[in-house]
Amino acid sequence: MQRVESFITIHKDIHSVKRTSLLSVSIMLIFFLINAFFTTVAAESEPLLVKVGAYANPPKIFMNKNLKVAGFWPDLIEYIAKKENWKIKYIRGTWIGDLNRLKNNEIDVMPDVAFTENRSKLYAFSKTPVLLSWSRVYINKKNTEIKSIIDLKNKKIAALEGSVNLEGPDGFREIALKFNLNCTFLELDSYREVFKAIEENRADAGITNRNFGNKNARKFQVKMTPIIFQPISLQFAFPIDGKKTQILLKRINNRMQKLKKDENSIYYQLLKKYFEAGITEKTVAVLPGWFKTVLQIIGVILVFFILILAISRMQVRKKTYEIRIKNESLRRSTQLLSAHLLNTPVGAIFWDLNNKVVEWNPAAEAIFGYTKEEAIDKRGIELIVPEDQKELVKSILNDLISGKGSTQNINENITRDGRRIICDWYNTALRDVNGRVTGIASLVNDITRQKKTEEALKKSEDRLIRLFQALPLGIGLVKNRVLQWHNETMSRMLGYPSEELHGKNARILYPTYEEYEQAGKAINALKYGKKSIEIETRWVRKDGSVFDCNIRVALLDPEAEDRVVLVLAEDITDRKKTEKEKQKLEAQLSQAQKMEAIGVLAGGIAHDFNNLLTSIIGNADFGLMNLDKNSSVCQNFKEIREAGQRAASLTHQLLAFSRKELILPEIMNLNSVTMNLVETILRRLIGEDIELVTTYAPDPCNIKADPGQIEQVIMNLSVNARDAMPKGGKLTIETANVELDRGYFQARGKESKPGLYVMLAVTDSGIGMDRETRARIFEPFFTTKEMGRGTGLGLSTVYGIVKQNNGYIWVYSEEGKGTTFKVYLPGVKADIRDLQKGRSIKTSFTGSETILVVEDEETLRNMAERMLIGFGYKVLTARNGKKAMEILESHDNLIHMVLTDVVMPGMSGRELAEKLQSGFPETRILYM
Ligand code: ADP
Ligand code: MG
Repeated sequence: MQRVESFITIHKDIHSVKRTSLLSVSIMLIFFLINAFFTTVAAESEPLLVKVGAYANPPKIFMNKNLKVAGFWPDLIEYIAKKENWKIKYIRGTWIGDLNRLKNNEIDVMPDVAFTENRSKLYAFSKTPVLLSWSRVYINKKNTEIKSIIDLKNKKIAALEGSVNLEGPDGFREIALKFNLNCTFLELDSYREVFKAIEENRADAGITNRNFGNKNARKFQVKMTPIIFQPISLQFAFPIDGKKTQILLKRINNRMQKLKKDENSIYYQLLKKYFEAGITEKTVAVLPGWFKTVLQIIGVILVFFILILAISRMQVRKKTYEIRIKNESLRRSTQLLSAHLLNTPVGAIFWDLNNKVVEWNPAAEAIFGYTKEEAIDKRGIELIVPEDQKELVKSILNDLISGKGSTQNINENITRDGRRIICDWYNTALRDVNGRVTGIASLVNDITRQKKTEEALKKSEDRLIRLFQALPLGIGLVKNRVLQWHNETMSRMLGYPSEELHGKNARILYPTYEEYEQAGKAINALKYGKKSIEIETRWVRKDGSVFDCNIRVALLDPEAEDRVVLVLAEDITDRKKTEKEKQKLEAQLSQAQKMEAIGVLAGGIAHDFNNLLTSIIGNADFGLMNLDKNSSVCQNFKEIREAGQRAASLTHQLLAFSRKELILPEIMNLNSVTMNLVETILRRLIGEDIELVTTYAPDPCNIKADPGQIEQVIMNLSVNARDAMPKGGKLTIETANVELDRGYFQARGKESKPGLYVMLAVTDSGIGMDRETRARIFEPFFTTKEMGRGTGLGLSTVYGIVKQNNGYIWVYSEEGKGTTFKVYLPGVKADIRDLQKGRSIKTSFTGSETILVVEDEETLRNMAERMLIGFGYKVLTARNGKKAMEILESHDNLIHMVLTDVVMPGMSGRELAEKLQSGFPETRILYM
């Protein structure tokens, strides 16, 4: 039996193979195996020319690169030919052509002819099947439609013209008919062209034999389908009535039988070489017919069982594999979970429905101090919940058991050693498959330290805020010129309620738009990388009052995108005031120091100079006494004396200024001194172009001062006034009693000595002074007058006298409008009778008393001695104070008067006077 009645469809997936299909496959395989036994005849060798039909059907038979006929069949036949000493000649043609030639005896043997009943009538066939094959349907690689025979309905099928798989019994034409597929056929010259037609979609499918398909499908864009059909045996065919047929048939049968028996024979080598595997072509031993049937049945049963076994084993394996995978993942997740539970710093606790501990991890041990053994089976509420937290915890547990999925809460717990700790709990209800709550899983963190840190942080933050509020510096944060935050000092400084200030634009802080813009411009420099900016400006309070303000600004965070400006503001009104005062004081001090320096200088010279002058004037007087009043020499002496006196008055000024002159303050009436001076000297001094007006206070203007000094003050001021009015004008001299209060001094920035003062004002309508001149007039040697006219000592002397008498001097002057000097001297309340009634200078005096002259300068001493002797006095002289005391103590009679220089080396005149007062009270003293 060489036919199989059915075709078979094999699906790739072994799990879905239909049982019937499997059976068919098994049956078919068994038939083939059995059939392989029935073709083994030996042939005798005979030197012979054998013509072999050759056509293209790789790998079985084809032309190689060298245009030589090659392939499985040529190799096999050439092997046999060599053994049999045949000469092979290939007759090349097509399949159909070659078959015709075979029929016409033009060739001796044709390889690879499928055995069929019909063909066996036309050709003689070798006994043994050389190759087994079946046919298969191929389709284009992209085709996904065709999966079984049914899918070929109405399709165009490419096939090899006249091939057994198309035309033969069980060929595709027959199958198509049986299945009513209504296929059309594209009949081509070679299998290669069949594949090409599929590739190029000229046909929906194609059929080739299995050998060609296996070897060549991958070279084309085609793939095999599970549709196979027409298992065939390929054999050598011979002309049925050929001369050589019998001998060739015999020899080939013989050879093939031998080749098939030997597993290492060339036959098997060729199978391997050309078809990879040749299992189906294995030969089996010859067996009787009935045995075949038995074998078939056993085979079927065997295959059936093997299949069942295989399928069930496969299923078992699959299930086992699935379970293993599941187990593995379960094991791993359990391992992972327990590793987490063991190593996590989070306490993990499981409770049953009665709040009893079921699981208690090491972290829970660390948090609460109870070991797992101690905790297991204890009720949590009794173990770790303090009394005052029990209600809270109970309600949470109730919530969870009655269906709330999870809760998070922070509450206090108690540890094994009684510490109260703060814990952060996350609880989840555990449920079984039916959704019933079976317990509670809790994760817990001890956050006591964290809470404490938070509290400490809050505390320090509060302190910081309080610090900011308390700083005596206005602090503000400004963004886009709008106040975002400020401290209390700021709102207090600006006089706003704190809430009102918040969100205000910075514009409201400035009294004018210009100042606002100016400050804004300065602050803008922050944009260009300046770290901080300090400006002094003015701010305005809510009530409209304006104050001086120092502001410092910096960017709160220079890196940040939004520029928040930190403002530190300080009210500097007081500071400014004290600064101004300081400047004034400094100016005063430097003025005083300057005066002092000049004073020392002037005093030093003036004193010596004065002594010289006294000698000059004295000698002139002395000369005059002894000279005839009408002589010309007498006139010369008079002029010497006058020049000397003028010089003396100048030195007098210097000495007053340097305060080295001995002054004799007495209570005096300013009115009478002024009046006296005006009447005797002033009118003559100022000339006729100037009108002199005097206004005297009605009350006596009593002061305690040296009248000579006061005269000098009036004189100096008047002379200056005269000089300021070269074309005439008006000079006003005024006296007044005034009460100066604290406010008066404050307004002028002076040390306050409020009380009664006597004022002397000298006003002129002259040229006045500009500011620069006014600032310097009291400086010694400052003058605007031409050389020889001004000494620059007038006002500095006045200043010196006024200060010596604890008074004040102000000047009011405007260029072109005149000047007023006002001198204030402390007033004295005194009886008018105490006052000296002016001074009368005696020009001639004589006496007989004893006078002690004390003078370090010899010429002066001698002159005084001579003058006094000339007036009739008894005269004693001493070089210094010490000598004077010696004389006083050794002198027997009363010394009526001591005439002494004031400034002397060693004991000064004043010291001498003090000693006299205690030791010799009757002796009077006169300073010179
Ligand atoms: P002198 O009179 O020798 O210049 P003073 O010390 O008396 O020196 O005066 C200093 C300067 O003060 C004068 O040179 C003059 O410029 C100015 N001065 C003083 N008194 C007046 C006044 N009444 N009117 C205008 N200028 C004055
Ligand atoms: Mg002057």
